[in-house]
Amino acid sequence: MERNRILSDDLTKLIPTEERMPAIEWLAEQMPGGFFIYKADESTELLYVNKATCDIFGCADLTEFRALTGNTFKGMVHPEDYDMTQTSIDDQIADITNRSHMDYVVYRIIRKDGSVRWVSDYGHFSELPGYGEVYYVFIWDITDTKLAAEEKERSENLAHALEAAEQANVAKTAFLSNMSHEIRTPITAILGMNEMIQRETDDSAILEYSENIRKAGVSLLGIISDILDFSKIESGHMELDCENYSLSSVVTDLYNLVQFRAEAKGLELKFNIDPTLPKTLYGDEIRVKQIITNLLTNAVKYTEKGSVVFEMKAVERTRDNILLNVSVADTGIGIRKEEMDRLFEPFDRLNLKKTRTIEGSGLGLAITTQMLELMDSKLEVESVYEEGSTFSFTLKQQIVDDAPIGEMDPVLMSRSASATGRRHTSFTAPGMNLLVVDDTPMNLQVISGLLKRTLMHIDVASSGAECIEKFGAGHYDLVFLDYRMPYMNGIETLEEIKRLYPDQYEKTPIISLTASAVSGDKEKMLRAGFTDYLPKPVNIDDMEHMLIRYLPPDSVILAGDDEDEEDDELNKLPDEIFGINGMDPQKGLEYCGDADDYIFALETYANSIDTRAAQIEKDLTDGDIENYTINVHSLKSTSQAIGAMSMFEKARALEMAGKDGETDTLKADTPIMLAEYRNLKDVILNIVEKYEN
Ligand code: ADP
Repeated sequence: MERNRILSDDLTKLIPTEERMPAIEWLAEQMPGGFFIYKADESTELLYVNKATCDIFGCADLTEFRALTGNTFKGMVHPEDYDMTQTSIDDQIADITNRSHMDYVVYRIIRKDGSVRWVSDYGHFSELPGYGEVYYVFIWDITDTKLAAEEKERSENLAHALEAAEQANVAKTAFLSNMSHEIRTPITAILGMNEMIQRETDDSAILEYSENIRKAGVSLLGIISDILDFSKIESGHMELDCENYSLSSVVTDLYNLVQFRAEAKGLELKFNIDPTLPKTLYGDEIRVKQIITNLLTNAVKYTEKGSVVFEMKAVERTRDNILLNVSVADTGIGIRKEEMDRLFEPFDRLNLKKTRTIEGSGLGLAITTQMLELMDSKLEVESVYEEGSTFSFTLKQQIVDDAPIGEMDPVLMSRSASATGRRHTSFTAPGMNLLVVDDTPMNLQVISGLLKRTLMHIDVASSGAECIEKFGAGHYDLVFLDYRMPYMNGIETLEEIKRLYPDQYEKTPIISLTASAVSGDKEKMLRAGFTDYLPKPVNIDDMEHMLIRYLPPDSVILAGDDEDEEDDELNKLPDEIFGINGMDPQKGLEYCGDADDYIFALETYANSIDTRAAQIEKDLTDGDIENYTINVHSLKSTSQAIGAMSMFEKARALEMAGKDGETDTLKADTPIMLAEYRNLKDVILNIVEKYEN
């Protein structure tokens, strides 16, 4: 720019007036950049334009350039930018003290081919003898550099935005995680208090209200746990926790979880579990269950009529490993092709018109896919809109015990799960001393209230210091010690106990309660010297299991140890049950554990009579003896499980006839068996009703 100014100033001074224009023209033609002169009046008429300027405008020569611009400076500038160039010129004219000042303007031009380019010009206002006041202007195309600079700025902005978004995401994840912890604690207290109400009242109205509180609380807890899981996955804190587990207990738990919901909607629920699958596997049982539960509950949620079929079989098997194929198929609302991509997006729910009223957070599948990813697997979906969907995945697990799990019969499944899951006080331990430490008074109240029936003596402490004092003064058989407490946390308290009372510490099981539930916590607690660890919110069944495990065995009386208990349970059954022909309630109770569970099994049995009878009838008419035999076999086992011994005998005989292909016997005896079977429905439901009232 400095050089340009010298050039133009010198030109005006050194060259004689009459030769000035030819000299300028000669010089300008040698220049690689654009140069032109125009009149500094309203006409902005161009007095001279060099070849390089024509090039900038995409014109082959001056004639084309003049045609394009009307031979004026105004015609050179993009119409939208002209005013801006004039403002700049006016400023320069106004600055009388510095007339020779070069000014820098950037504006757009339109080339001959219509394309828009950016140019930069340096103008110099001066007197040209013979022409009056003029502008000498140097011009060049800056489009490429300008675009590159803009691109650089854009990518810098993008990088900043990305960084900000990542920070916001970290903050969001931390917020979600903290919030769900904070919410879980009071909900657990609500559920615990509510359970005490349920245990202590017989008033049916209160029990009904209380049951509603329980349902709402459990569903809220489910949502909060989903959010917590999701935030754990997002922040990379989710790790697998692998242990040996029993496959049949997983299947049983799953069955019990969805069976009620499926039944309430009148859906047929089928569990096709390959009976040759191994009994014990090694893997993350909780997560495997969580994944399948998500798929099963979705299938039930998004299906109005028809069936939900759960299948588990082996795809490959070696001595040590098995590749399981797991699938859940439904006949529900299905998923539109165009919505498929959004299926795994967190918080996204599809087909809102139909699903708005269905409870859900849109997190289930996002969590499921990410957990499967942790297990090196992938969720596959096949769906036909308005016909149904099948979700499936394969999962490699180590085989621990390859004995086959055997037939998984629905009635037996509901029995075994309810026997463990629904029973409340599973033991008593009179004379045992327990210390529970937690800084939240409500938690202490809930835990002591729920454990009251164990007949243990329960002491509480609400801080680390109080715990140490009580621990030193008394004799405890077991301590539950909360981790998150102000002033002195669980680990610090334990350190003090170890230091002050090393002998007592060695003898006493001390179990950590921690609400953070982040993976790695368990190891942290065990390393710190805790005997074991229970995640909060504390589930009372888990707490009882922990007590049974760590209290001295001879001080614990398990519920089943009580010899009179069976008689008590038998007495609870309505009298009518003893009048049913071919029914042995004592046998049923032996299978089912207690009266509650027996009645539950009876109800499940009665509710499946219509479908199962129709199926057996159809198999026989179709001549499908193979399926007939399978169905009769299953009827045989379920009948035995409820003590329906006459049905058991009949089904057993027909199963054998089926195996031997004795079609005549089948044709003759099936209707007799089915008549008795169908007859049982109302009889059993009547007993269930009597029991519940
Ligand atoms: P939600 O809590 O909403 O059920 P999910 O992440 O489990 O969340 O599922 C996301 C969405 O995918 C659901 O809102 C629903 O629209 C759709 N979806 C999931 N499973 C099924 C299914 N079996 N049939 C039809 N739609 C389904």
